[in-house]
Amino acid sequence: SVPPPCAHKFKLLVSEMGSAVVYICEMCGSLPHWYIWECKNCKLKTCRPCAYKA
Ligand SMILES: [Zn+2]
Ligand SMILES: [Zn+2]
Repeated sequence: SVPPPCAHKFKLLVSEMGSAVVYICEMCGSLPHWYIWECKNCKLKTCRPCAYKA
């Protein structure tokens, strides 16, 4: 069976200033991002434009 599509609930994750931790958008592959939107349900990480489209 196919799971229902996720009704994404995004929350903003912010990397600490100067931190080596950077994020990659999992939808468009853009990088680096020091902040990223993560879905609380499926953990999809996206940049802001992609979060609006997802
Ligand atoms: Zn989701
Ligand atoms: Zn993106």
